[in-house]
Amino acid sequence: FGSKRHSRNERKEVDSPYFKSMQVEIEEKSERLRVWCWVPEGKWETGKIQSLSDDESEILLSNGKGMKVSPEVLLPANPSILDGVDDLIQLSYLNEPSVLHNLRVRFTQNFVYTKAGPVLVAINPFKAVPLYGKDFISAYREKQTDSPHVYAIADAAFTGMMRDGINQSIIISGESGAGKTETAKIAMHYFAALGGESGMESEILEANFILEAFGNAKTSRNNNSSRFGKLIEIHFSSIGKICGAQIQTFLLEKSRVVQRASGERSYHVFYQLCAGAPPDLKDKLKIKEAMEYDYLKKGNCLRIDGVDDAKQFRLLTKALNAVGILKEDQTKATDGRDALAKAIYASLFDWLVEKINKSLEIGDNCCSGRSISILDIYGFESFYKNGFEQFCINYANERLQQHFNRHLFKLEQEEYMEDGIDWTNVEFVDNTDCLNLFEKKPLGLFSLLDEESTFPKATDLTFANKITGHLNSNPCFKAERGGTFGICHYAGEVSYDASGFLEKNRDPLHSESINLLLSCQSELPKLLASNMTSASQRKSSRRTSFSAQKQTVSTKFKAQLFKLMQQLEGTTPHFIRCIKPNSRHRAGLYDSELVSHQLRCCGVLEVVRISRAGYPTRFTHQQFAERFGFLLVGPMLSQEPLSISVAILQQFNIHPEMYQVGYTKIFFRSGQISVLEECRSRV
Ligand code: ATP
Ligand code: MG
Repeated sequence: FGSKRHSRNERKEVDSPYFKSMQVEIEEKSERLRVWCWVPEGKWETGKIQSLSDDESEILLSNGKGMKVSPEVLLPANPSILDGVDDLIQLSYLNEPSVLHNLRVRFTQNFVYTKAGPVLVAINPFKAVPLYGKDFISAYREKQTDSPHVYAIADAAFTGMMRDGINQSIIISGESGAGKTETAKIAMHYFAALGGESGMESEILEANFILEAFGNAKTSRNNNSSRFGKLIEIHFSSIGKICGAQIQTFLLEKSRVVQRASGERSYHVFYQLCAGAPPDLKDKLKIKEAMEYDYLKKGNCLRIDGVDDAKQFRLLTKALNAVGILKEDQTKATDGRDALAKAIYASLFDWLVEKINKSLEIGDNCCSGRSISILDIYGFESFYKNGFEQFCINYANERLQQHFNRHLFKLEQEEYMEDGIDWTNVEFVDNTDCLNLFEKKPLGLFSLLDEESTFPKATDLTFANKITGHLNSNPCFKAERGGTFGICHYAGEVSYDASGFLEKNRDPLHSESINLLLSCQSELPKLLASNMTSASQRKSSRRTSFSAQKQTVSTKFKAQLFKLMQQLEGTTPHFIRCIKPNSRHRAGLYDSELVSHQLRCCGVLEVVRISRAGYPTRFTHQQFAERFGFLLVGPMLSQEPLSISVAILQQFNIHPEMYQVGYTKIFFRSGQISVLEECRSRV
């Protein structure tokens, strides 16, 4: 599989216009040029060209071996002085082996962060690296360093919010285990260090801890895998102190409560409770060992190496107290344990989020309306067998990818065009067609799924046949046999098994379980049950034709995502792409193939290409003249913003290569404006 994947990608590189221009470069500089050579072992190695003809090159590999190869398997390599540059846009040759090599060089020196133009690439070190804490935070806050870091991204977001009064978002993506949740926490610590009103900053961190206990679990890919997506919106006062927060969660994997794969656990909180509840609580709730519960021992995994569940339980109790969840309610909630239906757990989770949000509500004295949102949401998933969950998760990723594309490619290039500057478009993988496949009405995947979900006699197989019948000719759809179907996602083709789709989409709520809860003596289960019934009644009363149906899971999820995208559209986005260096959770191990697959999935190479060619900093003539006009030393010949701007550019000797003047704006290449900003801050 590995070599197939590589040869596909090799072909992709060879076919691309970029590769062709590189080939010309190789021919022109010919001999002695350092190159990457795709060797028969299925990897890239560096070497030097000894001789070159149309159909054969002689290469001396760096391991001393000589070989004859077709020039088609060569790509130019960067001079070693560029090894480990902290922004990939500084590489002279931007091809996949060069990017992989650069990231590896940095990774082996514990520099886990690298810029790819405006995007931060974060490689999970799987060990403690000396890059965090107070001193680092101050260094970024005081702009003493511009080394790539989550702190730098957090600081850029904070500065942008304070300076422009525009809300910001930090969008973190990556595969399971790539480090999204840790990255989100690192960003939150940065904001917490800026201080808050009445201890609000530490309350937010505690809230996050609670959500992890209830919403994270050990999976085969990550010992602390988030089984829900979350958006934390942190609110700031006008002087930039944290004054509140709101949390939105997306699609909790509730099936985990009752079933899971071998080697995986249910949600942490259950094991923490069994291991850590004090004797009186254990007595009261009749808590036994985790291994005595069927629900908990499924998966044959009760412990996580290096994790002390009992200690975690004490921390959890502390966190629950910190966000003001009452003692009786804490006893969280655990009463429901014996009736652990999936619905109860999901409802409990929602209740918890609601409670936390109440406690983090923005106070009256904080009405600046400024916020920074951090999105930590499941990355693209492609397994041997993919079900309804992967279907929803991958749809969410298509939406996020579109947001990424819009901001980094489409809007950017449209702006250049509109302002009439010299520009050749950079190609990128547009995923609009795939989104249409999901969303089109009435013949998109979601519509067809909902329609089939309303037929009592429908089965997963009739659903698979139905979509195949309607969508067979769609280039993003791949017809398969036996109840499976394929979708061509931006990150690759995924084959889905339709079994379970209808049941999971309908998500039926059984009246017995509600009655059971309503008959409980304590208040919380009753409240959860009444929330469940009223929610479904509310929804069904709005419907006429299928009054017995509640809103389907996919419809709810789609609506939630739609709202999320609208929310994000109103913010200035900052993107962090987390990368998993190996599948074994091991420190120091860098699997080039795994990394390159992830880089390709998230479009890092394209972003670097566009940023290097592009003009990321821009001002309207008016803004530029207002911001820097006062730095002019000579007499001002005109009050006209454009002439003032041009005079400034001349005074500071900004090289004409480094900027372009458009109809309404001036565009700068990356880093060019820093001289002016520095000068401005000194005055
Ligand atoms: P999922 O999608 O499954 O929730 P994730 O992308 O959120 O995965 P994390 O839980 O953030 O992944 O990271 C997985 C593990 O990797 C962490 O538990 C931690 O051990 C390690 N890790 C991640 N980031 C760092 C870091 N910056 N420094 C040290 N270890 C890290
Ligand atoms: Mg996570």
